[in-house]
Amino acid sequence: MGEFFWLLVFTGQFYNRVPLQWCRAVVQAKPEPNDDLIMSDLRIGIDLGGTKTEVILLNGQSQELFRTRIPTVRHDYPATLRDLADLVGQAEKAAGQSQLPVGIGIPGTISRKTGCVKNANATWLNGKPLQQDLSDLLKRSVQVTNDANCLAVSEATDGAGKGYELVFAGILGTGCGAGLAYKGKPIVGPNGVAGEWGHNPLPWTSQEELEARPCYCGKSGCQETFLSGTGLCLSYQMATDQQKKGYEIVELAKKGDLVAQQVLDAYYDQLAKGLAGVINTLDPDVIVLGGGVSNIADIYVQVPLRLSRYVFGGECDTPVVPAIHGDSSGVRGAAWLNPLE
Ligand SMILES: [Zn+2]
Repeated sequence: MGEFFWLLVFTGQFYNRVPLQWCRAVVQAKPEPNDDLIMSDLRIGIDLGGTKTEVILLNGQSQELFRTRIPTVRHDYPATLRDLADLVGQAEKAAGQSQLPVGIGIPGTISRKTGCVKNANATWLNGKPLQQDLSDLLKRSVQVTNDANCLAVSEATDGAGKGYELVFAGILGTGCGAGLAYKGKPIVGPNGVAGEWGHNPLPWTSQEELEARPCYCGKSGCQETFLSGTGLCLSYQMATDQQKKGYEIVELAKKGDLVAQQVLDAYYDQLAKGLAGVINTLDPDVIVLGGGVSNIADIYVQVPLRLSRYVFGGECDTPVVPAIHGDSSGVRGAAWLNPLE
């Protein structure tokens, strides 16, 4: 039973593998056996970020057995590969086992066309066949996906989205991203942009309001310019001509500051509009929110109250909940890119 199980799990992965050639056109990859991986319920996850790289070792009961982090060596791809391999080695040493399944979350995506990284804000990864190079280096199939997808996988596996089939996980941080997981597996899409809702314009918003918020992507009125922490601060600045941090705006509102309350009230409405767009498109079973702004407790009261104003048909029962694993979602979700079943 055990071997047959692994054969099923890994046969699926090999259909997506990229050939050894460096960034040449992808040739049809053939399925191949993956006998190198041992039978174990231990999983290694790595969160490769722009400033730090973290590794975790999880067991089948979702318990963390080992974790460490190092500063990311920037603009040095060979050093990045070496560091990733070294972190895997450290986790395996802690496990007392080798050839464990490895998943990695990156601040970008793997292009299906080239097999190389694209859209990474850790720019030295762009154009590099990271997944293939690591698979070669570690002598096993390595799973690589966007860090927002890792949030979705993490929360779907053993977090706030556990038990739901289709999980939409939005990140309300410095920027505004999202990941999608269906039955615990990330949905990536042919362009690798599934979940990039942050760069759709905010719906049900006047042209004037949209044009007042240019976005770095070249367009204006993107949801990110409203719904990210940066967007919330911008809203406050537009209302008062003063700069405040997100938590300061929340504090002011609690103390009865009318403008801060109005800014937050408008924010809840904007977030409801953005999420209603997601519900009208995908109707996920649950919406999980992560990132700094997701710590505002009133979101989970105020946004559900407003969703039915915008969702087609005027009804909305979609749960909107905060992520359970917080900052650990990236690294935990990376580990669960190799699911237990
Ligand atoms: Zn944009």
